[in-house]
Amino acid sequence: MVIKIDHKKCIGAEKCGKCLEICPMTVFMNVPCDKHKYIKSLISNKRVNKRDHGKKPYMYEIVPYFQDVCNGCGLCEKNCPTRCIKFIN
Ligand code: SF4
Ligand code: SF4
Repeated sequence: MVIKIDHKKCIGAEKCGKCLEICPMTVFMNVPCDKHKYIKSLISNKRVNKRDHGKKPYMYEIVPYFQDVCNGCGLCEKNCPTRCIKFIN
């Protein structure tokens, strides 16, 4: 099983961070994202409008970094407000 986060839907740790708080195994990390990926997200993400450009909302992204210790409780998936956490077999 692999945990995937849809970064086009994730609203990030500043606005949400629910997965960081709720995961009993501390699977998720908020890490600086790749520069190219960040620029791509600015272009492709509809929520990033002109007003948001100065705020750099996607300089950090949530990553399921320690997913090998996931206990499968499902709390992250249930509590994510944008439903952007998926478990893939
Ligand atoms: S299923 Fe549970 S242990 Fe696994 S990442 Fe989500 S909250 Fe953490
Ligand atoms: S709970 Fe969902 S929307 Fe909130 S930071 Fe985590 S992955 Fe992103």
